[in-house]
Amino acid sequence: MITLKGLVIREEPKGESSKLIYALTRERGVLSIFVRGGMKSGKYASATQLYVYSELCCEEKTNARGETQYYLNSAEPINMFFELRLDVYKSALAAYLTELLYYSRIEGARDKNDVLRLTLNTLYYINEGKKDRELLKSIFEFRLICDTGFRPNLIGCAKCYKYEDEIMYFNIRAGEMECSSCCRNKESLYGVLLDPKLLYIVRHIALTDFERLFAIKVSPKYQQQLTEFTERIVRYYFSDKFETLAFYRSL
Ligand SMILES: [Zn+2]
Repeated sequence: MITLKGLVIREEPKGESSKLIYALTRERGVLSIFVRGGMKSGKYASATQLYVYSELCCEEKTNARGETQYYLNSAEPINMFFELRLDVYKSALAAYLTELLYYSRIEGARDKNDVLRLTLNTLYYINEGKKDRELLKSIFEFRLICDTGFRPNLIGCAKCYKYEDEIMYFNIRAGEMECSSCCRNKESLYGVLLDPKLLYIVRHIALTDFERLFAIKVSPKYQQQLTEFTERIVRYYFSDKFETLAFYRSL
């Protein structure tokens, strides 16, 4: 028997009354756990709901193909993130962010705890409703990509190491940027133009210590550019359009 701390990011019904939950755990990344009778309002129903952070006590079994399967034995909620279920904007955003997690390669993270901490903090602020939702969304999208092994080189120009310029040409495919004197392909399909302010914001999200990550303010004008930037990066890395994002945008 093992005890894991995990956030439920997806649930799928299994048979008439059971379900499979996907939990992002501190210890083992994303795991699927079978919850017998989980669709009924049983003992552990609330602790295994979507967006609940719980202590999950599981039995581990190895199947004929050598894969580990997890079966829930008991569960205790740590944080329910109540508001996420009561507000349509909050729940639509939480649905998108947890879908991103489901499709992320968490195993690429240097430390899986980084991803869990980022997720719990983002959900905390969305739940609380005091910080700008669009900013929280952008921080989560870009930092998740950085923390799962795809942090681009934002230190300076890739050729001459210049720290900033009136415009820096960031190339999403190359994962690096060039200053205006070095950049030969300013019209690249993968290009994003970063002025000093936008560069400061994306550097902050990618590189700052976690403790200061959410302590940034972004004006509406730059938020629009930041949203465009982070959504393009998501489309590039996941090569997918997320229906949950389309739904959030439709509200
Ligand atoms: Zn340069």
